[in-house]
Amino acid sequence: MLTISDLLAYDTSPFSIAHAAADMPAADMNEAKNEDEQPKLFETEPPPWELVDAEEIMSASIVFAEAPHGPFDYKVPGPLREHVQAGMRVHVPLGKRKQPLTGWCVETKVQTLRGPALRDVIDVVDSEPLCDAQLVQLVLWISHYYQTPAGVVFDTLVPSGVRAGAGTREQKLFTADPQSLDDRIVDALPPKQRSALRFLIAAAKPMTLAQWTVEAECTESPIRQLHRKGLVRIQTRRVMSHETHVARRIGGDESVKIETLSDEQTVALASVVAAIDSGKAKTLLLHGVTGSGKTEVYIRAIQHVVRFGRSAIVLVPEISLTPQTRARFECRFEGVAVLHSQMSPSERHFQWQRIRSGEVQVVVGPRSAVFAPLPRLGLIVIDEEHDGSFKQDTQPRYHARRVAHRRANLAGIPLLLGSATPSMESWHATRTGHAELIRMDHRIANRPMPNVQLVDLRQRDDRSRGAISRPLATAITQTLRDDGQVILLLNRRGFATTIQCPACGHVVACPECDLPLTHHRDGSKALCHYCDYTIATPPWCPACRFDGIRYGGLGTQRLEVEVKARFPETEIARMDSDTMRRPGSHQKVLSAFRSGEIRILLGTQMIAKGLDFPNVLLVGVINADSALHFPDFRAAERTFQLVTQVAGRTGRGDRGGQVIVQTFSPDHPAIIAASHHDFVGFADGEMIQRRKFNYPPLGSVARIIIRGPVEETTEAFAIKMMDSLEAARAKLGAEVRLLGPAPPPIAKLRGKFRFHILLQSTSNAVLGETIRRGTATLTTPAKDEIQYVIDIDPMDML
Ligand SMILES: [Zn+2]
Ligand SMILES: [Zn+2]
Repeated sequence: MLTISDLLAYDTSPFSIAHAAADMPAADMNEAKNEDEQPKLFETEPPPWELVDAEEIMSASIVFAEAPHGPFDYKVPGPLREHVQAGMRVHVPLGKRKQPLTGWCVETKVQTLRGPALRDVIDVVDSEPLCDAQLVQLVLWISHYYQTPAGVVFDTLVPSGVRAGAGTREQKLFTADPQSLDDRIVDALPPKQRSALRFLIAAAKPMTLAQWTVEAECTESPIRQLHRKGLVRIQTRRVMSHETHVARRIGGDESVKIETLSDEQTVALASVVAAIDSGKAKTLLLHGVTGSGKTEVYIRAIQHVVRFGRSAIVLVPEISLTPQTRARFECRFEGVAVLHSQMSPSERHFQWQRIRSGEVQVVVGPRSAVFAPLPRLGLIVIDEEHDGSFKQDTQPRYHARRVAHRRANLAGIPLLLGSATPSMESWHATRTGHAELIRMDHRIANRPMPNVQLVDLRQRDDRSRGAISRPLATAITQTLRDDGQVILLLNRRGFATTIQCPACGHVVACPECDLPLTHHRDGSKALCHYCDYTIATPPWCPACRFDGIRYGGLGTQRLEVEVKARFPETEIARMDSDTMRRPGSHQKVLSAFRSGEIRILLGTQMIAKGLDFPNVLLVGVINADSALHFPDFRAAERTFQLVTQVAGRTGRGDRGGQVIVQTFSPDHPAIIAASHHDFVGFADGEMIQRRKFNYPPLGSVARIIIRGPVEETTEAFAIKMMDSLEAARAKLGAEVRLLGPAPPPIAKLRGKFRFHILLQSTSNAVLGETIRRGTATLTTPAKDEIQYVIDIDPMDML
């Protein structure tokens, strides 16, 4: 029997893990994969045994996306010996498949083989490794910890463009038409067209649209006119695709201004530099209040790393990848690669090649940037480390902070986490000696924290007047009069969050998910926010035909209507995932807000993060309770973070700022702490709550979601899995608490019934092993179309 200390040893030795796992057919397959393919695979493994005499051979250990366990050993035939290396793809036979499969080599070794013969590697796909040794180890660790086939992890790590060898794209280049050399024609043009054209002629080189507009400081419209008149030509050529690097003038002078460090920043930087110089792995948590200048500390720390020929990764929430963030890094470092989710596969390929070749010093990007193949990594920074977007919600369900921690340990380098509202996990690490705490309690230039006023919605006597209470309305009026700007947060999109019949009580719900549909005013449609099921909003009750159907609940669209009605003279913009669908729309609204053209910006949590506008004198939180009563142990933490973060958007200039928080729960500890900017007070109280139930960070949680089209068979399988997990627990003698199976808060999603099982333990290794064993022999009945997903350290309990 495996002892607990054996399991803990696994946690530090990723390589032995994967090998040990080989005899346990885990079953957490990619959800999209054809489920009925997997059992066959294991029935036919291992290959036909065949005894041979002792022989010295080179073998390669191969993992697959299609096979949850492994690695499997193969013989490397003589002619391929020079070519096969860890981190490369190879073609090999697997099971009884007729076609060879693509697998990833994770190790090669020369060994004397006695006993069963190995099958041969057929050929090598890549001419050089796509991942270095450390990344290969990281993959094996992720595969083990998150219980995902290593091949799936490799496929996540290496962009599809790189795997496919893609890398070129068409580029449109503008050149001047010969007739534009005739001054009489050029001088007859409107001034904007004339100056744009003269710029192109003077530049004497073909230019892309982006280069031309930026360098000539013009808009696209005169260029379009010139093209229509035949004065410029467009040539298309295929280029290695990349983003055109042009000096960005957006963001104004802020991007080039180099700040003098405050005393707190100086001390913080010294701690980070000491960690870098120590040459050891170490985690640091920079807890700095909003507006304390954390980014400048990151930049200086990275400069220190770069000075010694090394490089850094900066992870930011996707939404924070604003032009300002990019400009800030781009103007302080020579080689910056900015990664984001809207890149095409070939752009991604290009950046990946640049990064791997060593010409990049700093990679800035969302969670997947944690895998950037920098050859001489010296530091990993995670800004807003508490942000939920660092956890991936599809396989592999990794958390970038956990992966970054692992990568930093493998590389022997520091991991710098930063936040004004640290996650309980990171905070706890500072309390238990696993991370060093660095505090910045003051804003730069000693600006005061904004004053926060709570408005008790229960006491409200003007409820009929809509979403905005009297004190908030007064404050908005005053702010506009003072030439200030306003941010209003409402964390729900759509117009009305329920459509209900007042006569019979019927709620219009999604047939696929059983959840209320949200009414959207644009196009008068009702849609499900979980699966995008959409219908025209019914004009009468579908149940009783009553024609006075009522829109209840408040979404950002309704708030926008109300704000427009109250402040008709004022320019307003709404930012939520409905208005921000098109690439660039985010940037467009923010630059209009920065210029002062837009006076009131309202939206969902999108507006709560990272925005830095000195003229925002007022922040209003329309309903602070929206996330508070979710059936999730992180509800209070999320509420505290959201209110604190949005409150931090004001008072960033010399004119101060104030915050008004509307709430039905003014006595809730999360709301009170947020109103006093009291993170430590909140964290201490929250930790007591978590300790009662051994919730993270005091214990580990895992969640298994079972789903299927028929409720009864799905539940029956969930019960079977529970029995199997209980048996595994008993066999291991493990202290694991098992809860369920039960329908989760979202009991039906996209037409599938759902059940979940929660597992809790003080040791994540024990928890993981219980699941590994409990699911090892469990196969999902293919005929019932049942699937299950294992989510380690889930962030979402719905
Ligand atoms: Zn009705
Ligand atoms: Zn739905």
